[in-house]
Amino acid sequence: MEKLILNTYKDALTHVIFPRMCAHCDAEIGRFEDFLCHACWEKVEPTYYEMLKENTALDKLFYARVKLKSSYALFHFSEGNPIQSLLHNLKYKHKEKVGLYLGKCLGVKIKEMHKAPYFDAIIPVPIHPKKEFQRGYNQCDSLCRGLANILQIPVDKHLLIKNKNTESQTKNNKWARWENTLGNFTLKQRDMPYKSILIVDDVITTGSTLESLCTSLTKEHPSLEISIASIAFAGR
Ligand SMILES: [Zn+2]
Repeated sequence: MEKLILNTYKDALTHVIFPRMCAHCDAEIGRFEDFLCHACWEKVEPTYYEMLKENTALDKLFYARVKLKSSYALFHFSEGNPIQSLLHNLKYKHKEKVGLYLGKCLGVKIKEMHKAPYFDAIIPVPIHPKKEFQRGYNQCDSLCRGLANILQIPVDKHLLIKNKNTESQTKNNKWARWENTLGNFTLKQRDMPYKSILIVDDVITTGSTLESLCTSLTKEHPSLEISIASIAFAGR
């Protein structure tokens, strides 16, 4: 009990000396808030896909493109939304704690959606080794670790590699992105050790990266079951 009081006191003191700032609006955030202030969390839009019985907009995005076992995204993504700031922190500011936190949130929802998650491994969407070296990390790795912590499923970051270092694709249109990413992933081993995998990305916009990745995988391993999950999805 004394230790608890001491820790609470220590936490409060740390908060006074090092106030934490909201990743979106720079307002000071409360001791019990994570990364965003209360007002900014209010602006974040959950998809609530775990509660939907019918096919979601994300399911529909991949229709006739790739066969997926399931798909899930935690939040809607829109320009200027606080979720964009969180993902920016994760991608460019090395905020591993943001990734672990969001990965755990994703895990809780996926567990809710599939009563017994049936994946053999969690696979982060790979980035080119040169890019990973320059940045020092792949932003999906910490997401996957958070997710693995909740689902109790191993992460395999060595199953796939990215072949070509493409330019930033965010400004390209759908078809240009397809050309950039098609066939840019390689399986590092001939045998597939898994029956069912969960591929994790930070944000899904046109879906072309995941489409390319899943197409490469199912071409080699037609019976492989692929599910995808992301923190945010730009469609409605
Ligand atoms: Zn804020």
